[in-house]
Amino acid sequence: MKIVVLNETPSGETRVALVPESIRKLVALKAEVVIESGAGAHAFVSDADYQEAGASVSSDRQQLLESAEVLVAINRPRALDLAALKKGAVVIGFLRPLDEPAALEPVVSRGLNAFAMELMPRITRAQSMDALSSMATVAGYKAVLVAASHLPRMFPMLMTAAGTVSPSRVLVLGAGVAGLQAIATARRLGAVVDAYDVRAAAGEQVRSLAATFLEVDLGGIQTEDKSGYARELTEEALQRGRDLIAKHARSADVIITTAQVPGRPAPLLLTEEAVAGMKPGSLVIDLAASTGGNCALSKPGETIVHNQVTIMAPLNLAASTPVHASQLYSRNIAAFLALLIQDGQLKIDLNDTVVGPACVAGPGGYVNARVAAALEQSATP
Ligand code: NAD
Repeated sequence: MKIVVLNETPSGETRVALVPESIRKLVALKAEVVIESGAGAHAFVSDADYQEAGASVSSDRQQLLESAEVLVAINRPRALDLAALKKGAVVIGFLRPLDEPAALEPVVSRGLNAFAMELMPRITRAQSMDALSSMATVAGYKAVLVAASHLPRMFPMLMTAAGTVSPSRVLVLGAGVAGLQAIATARRLGAVVDAYDVRAAAGEQVRSLAATFLEVDLGGIQTEDKSGYARELTEEALQRGRDLIAKHARSADVIITTAQVPGRPAPLLLTEEAVAGMKPGSLVIDLAASTGGNCALSKPGETIVHNQVTIMAPLNLAASTPVHASQLYSRNIAAFLALLIQDGQLKIDLNDTVVGPACVAGPGGYVNARVAAALEQSATP
C-alpha cells in the first residue's frame, strides 16, 4: 500500500503530515511511504531524514498523485490535485467537511475515499487520533506567547527594589482544548486569568488551573450536544454572555477568544462596544478567525489597531510551531492509518466506531450524512 505525502500548498503552511517517527511505524505495518522532495523542509525534516526512516523521496508530484493509494495531507488538497488521484484512492486531512462542503463535491463524484480529521469522534478509542485537539493545544499555547511578547506590560507580578509590578489580566473566552491550554500557559507566566464558557463542565477544568470561571445565568437552556460540543445558543443567551464579557473586558490586558460551534459560524462574543471599553495598549487574539471570529472587529488573517487596542486574528497559529505541530499531527495520522491497514493492504471498515464517523465519502458511494446535509444546504440558494 502506497502512502504519499506532498508539499502543502497553502501559503504560510509550514507543517508536514508525516514525520520520520511515524514513518517507521507505517513501514512496520508493511506500508510503502513516498514523500515529495522538500515536504518536511519548513518543519526541519530533510529528505535524508525521511529516507533514513524507510520512506522514499520523489520530485515528481504528478506521478505521486497518480500512483497514491493513500494521500495524507494537513490541508484539503487543491481541486487539481484531487483530480489527479485514481478512483478509490484515500485522502486524509483537515478537509473542512462541514464549513466548506461544496469543495468536497469532486471527492464524492470521483469515487475517492475521504476521511476528515475534523470528524474524528471524541471517544476514548480515538483520542490518539484527535488532530483538532493537537492543533488547538499548539494554538492555545502560542496565542499566549504572542500576546505576552506584544503586550506593553509584563505578565507576572514582580516585587522589585523599585516596587511592585502588578500582574497582567488575561480573559479567555471558550475553555475547550485551546482555551484551557491558553489558561495554563498564561498562569505559568504569572498572569491572573478569568475564563468564560457555556459548558458547565468547563468551569471545573478552569478552576483546576487556578483561574476564575465567570458564570452567567443562561436561563437553564441546554448548552451542550450529546458529543460534548457546545450548541449554537439563542440570541438571548448569547447576549447575556456578551454583557458579562463586556464587563470583564474593561479590566483585561489580553483577551484570547477560542469559542467555536462545529459546522457553524463562531459566536460573536466581543462586541465593538466591549472593545471600546478596553484599556489602551490591551490586546485581543481571536483564535476563532477561521470560522468568522468571536470579536466583531476581527479581520481574519490580519492584525488591526482600533482605538489603541490591537486585534489579531491569526488563521494558522499552529503553523508557527511547525516541529511540534507536525509531530503531533503525524502521530494522530499514524494512529488512524493503523485502523485502515491490514497485512499491508488497505481495508476500510465503515462499521468501525472511528473509521465510520470520520469518513466523508467511502466505498459503494457512501457519503457521510452530516456532509450530505451540509452539501445540500450549500447548494440551496
Ligand atoms: P471547540 O473548538 O468546538 O470550541 C471551543 C470552546 O468554545 C468550547 O469549550 C465551547 O464550549 C466554547 N463555546 C462555544 N460557544 C460558546 C459561546 N457562545 N460562549 C462561550 N464559549 C463557547 O471545542 P473543543 O475545544 O475542540 O472541545 C470541546 C469539548 O470536547 C470539550 O469538552 C473538550 O474537553 C471535549 N473534548 C473531548 C475529547 C475526547 O476525546 N473525549 C477530546 C477533545 C475535546
